[in-house]
Amino acid sequence: MSKVIAIANQKGGVGKTTTTVNLGIGLVNEGKKVLLIDCDAQGSLTESLGFQNPDDLKITLSTMMQKAINEEPFAKDEGIIHHNEGVDLVPANIELSGMETALVNIMNRERALKTYIDKVKDNYDYVLIDCTPSLGMLTINSLAAADEVIIPVQAHYLPAKGLEQLITTVGKVKRQINPDLKIGGILLTMVDKRTKFAKDVSGQIRFNYGKHLTIYKTEIPLSVKAAETSAVGKSIYTYDGNGKAADAYKDFTKEVLDGGKQRNKHRSEIIR
Ligand code: ATP
Ligand code: MG
Repeated sequence: MSKVIAIANQKGGVGKTTTTVNLGIGLVNEGKKVLLIDCDAQGSLTESLGFQNPDDLKITLSTMMQKAINEEPFAKDEGIIHHNEGVDLVPANIELSGMETALVNIMNRERALKTYIDKVKDNYDYVLIDCTPSLGMLTINSLAAADEVIIPVQAHYLPAKGLEQLITTVGKVKRQINPDLKIGGILLTMVDKRTKFAKDVSGQIRFNYGKHLTIYKTEIPLSVKAAETSAVGKSIYTYDGNGKAADAYKDFTKEVLDGGKQRNKHRSEIIR
């Protein structure tokens, strides 16, 4: 049984792509077979894995979604590229922005990505979708295809309305399209542990949302090394394996694998 996880937040720059790469490769390092899907026309996930010119790629997520929409047959590995740290990738480029508008006019427009993923997911233990920073059709498609959504939140600002809006959208998708969808949890990213402010933000989020949602125990620290990984096309484990960001992503990967045990324990700590 494979698990499909969407990494989503319509706020830009919160660490979605960085989390997709390092959770994905983290799961590979734990012996899992993992497919990453770049569902953002910016192609940042594709670039982060070292494919520097996504616009030159012939087959991308857009091609494969189009095939799924047209009910054209395709091989399970068509368009999938392999990264040397053991993870597979369905890349994206600017063509995906056309898909966002094309979807509006098709039958079953919320399920085009799910139709594609359902055809390839049997080869994998985990499929991770790196969402685009919007709540448009591509994100709805990602939520419709997912079993679980992980929400990275940057600990620099208090997430006000944006997070509520995302949670409302997840609820709507659950009620109207995908009854099995769950919020895996909120992951605090770019936490500057030296400052009191970051501690306050983290504490507030745990206080405000912890009663209803899982807040992962692991917090991803602010780290220059983590920011540099996207430019070198490597995971944090290869680029700075002994650093604190690598340790954090390793711990976070274990929490995702544990699927809730530790998290529930932590939740009761918050309530107490
Ligand atoms: P977008 O909404 O544009 O898709 P995103 O949510 O995918 O953005 P990332 O691209 O992962 O966010 O990260 C935003 C920026 O912050 C990038 O430059 C990235 O390298 C940097 N970054 C990510 N994680 C960390 C971290 N732990 N410490 C410092 N910088 C980080
Ligand atoms: Mg991104």
